Amino acid sequence: MSQSLAVTAYVGLGANLGEPVQALQQALHALSSSAGVSALRSSGFYRSAPLGAGGPDFINAVAQLTTTLSAPDLLGVLHCVESAAGRQRPYRNAPRTLDLDLLLYGHARMDWPVLTVPHPRMWQRAFVLKPLSEIAPDLVPEAALAAVAGQSVERLH
Ligand code: AMP
Repeated sequence: MSQSLAVTAYVGLGANLGEPVQALQQALHALSSSAGVSALRSSGFYRSAPLGAGGPDFINAVAQLTTTLSAPDLLGVLHCVESAAGRQRPYRNAPRTLDLDLLLYGHARMDWPVLTVPHPRMWQRAFVLKPLSEIAPDLVPEAALAAVAGQSVERLH
C-alpha cells in the first residue's frame, strides 16, 4: 500500500551493541536510499544510559524524512533496516544492534495493534526529545524537555 502525498515523518534510532555509531550511520544511509523516502536529515548523535534495558550505553539520533509511503509501509522499511543490521529480539528490551521507532508521521494519530503513532513513549524519553528538538524545535515544547531533564543524555559531536 502506498500513497502519493508526501508526508514528513520522524524516526528514532538507537543501538547499544557492536559498533553503535557505525550502525546508526549505516541505518541513515539505508533509510535515505529506500524507495519512497527522500530529504532525510539527521540530528547529531547522542549517548544515553540504558532506560529499562540492559547492556552498554546507547547511541541515539532522530531523523526527519519525507515519504510517499503509508505509515505501515514505512514501519516495514524500518523493520527491514533493523533486520539487515542483524537485530534479534530474544526478549523485551534486550540490548540491540539497531532499534528504529516511527515517532511521528505527519499529524497522523494511529492506534493499531502493530503501530501506534505518535510513538507512545516518546514524550518520556530524553534520548528522543533532545535530538528531535535539535532538528524540529517547534515540535518539542520547553516543558517537555524540562520533564525529562533528569535523564542522562549527552551530545557526541
Ligand atoms: P521493538 O521490539 O521495541 O522494536 O518493538 C517493535 C514492535 O513495536 C513492532 O512489532 C511494531 O509493530 C510495534 N510498534 C508499534 N508502534 C510502533 C512505532 N511507532 N514505531 C515502531 N514500532 C512500533
